[in-house]
Amino acid sequence: MLIVLLGPPGAGKGTQAKLMKEKFHIPHISTGDILRDAIKSHTKLGQEANTFMHKGQLVPDDIVFGLIRHRLAEPDCKNGLVFDGFPRNLKQAKMLMNLEYISDFVNFIAILIDIADDEVVRRLSNRRYCPNCNSIFNLIYKIPQKMENGLYFCDNCGTELVIRNDDKVETIKNRLKIYHNSVKPMLDFFKKLSVLHIVNGVTSHSEVFNKILKIISN
Ligand code: AMP
Repeated sequence: MLIVLLGPPGAGKGTQAKLMKEKFHIPHISTGDILRDAIKSHTKLGQEANTFMHKGQLVPDDIVFGLIRHRLAEPDCKNGLVFDGFPRNLKQAKMLMNLEYISDFVNFIAILIDIADDEVVRRLSNRRYCPNCNSIFNLIYKIPQKMENGLYFCDNCGTELVIRNDDKVETIKNRLKIYHNSVKPMLDFFKKLSVLHIVNGVTSHSEVFNKILKIISN
């Protein structure tokens, strides 16, 4: 089973991908997480990516292709996976569909988790991120348990939570602009292949997950 989760930043792709990873025992591949790890480890890839990421811009396709090819070669991808944050535009979608890897999967599904722009801004500006274990919290609906002197700490590892550079309001607006410019041709492409499904993302995580499970089982 190969699943591609699409949607604006903050739609809940990461949360749904984690739920799918647990249920189906397939890896969750988040290009954003891979890039943030590369930045943290001060690799050349990380340095290159950082100049785009902190402005909310997309990292160039050739960098992303390189890391996707590398990741797909790992043995845990043999039985499928869930992509979160990839593909991001038509070029990446075409690249994905041209990979030999894809031809092994009968069950290829693209799911758009749809939410409106003002909800994106509300969710992302309240998002807090653990720079150590990549856990995500939200001050509206997934509040971290430990708070001291106005600082929040990770429920999993105790690290102080931060606001991601690209979750600042101006950057969110830029990310949304880029999302809207690049998403339509990609959606049309997946629609033509009859693999696209759309779910409303403005409900609880468990409701969204149930809708996704229904799509998968049909
Ligand atoms: P995300 O965690 O998916 O919201 O991604 C955070 C940032 O990483 C994005 O704003 C981009 O700068 C970069 N990024 C993640 N995935 C991709 C991708 N598939 N193509 C280009 N840039 C990406």
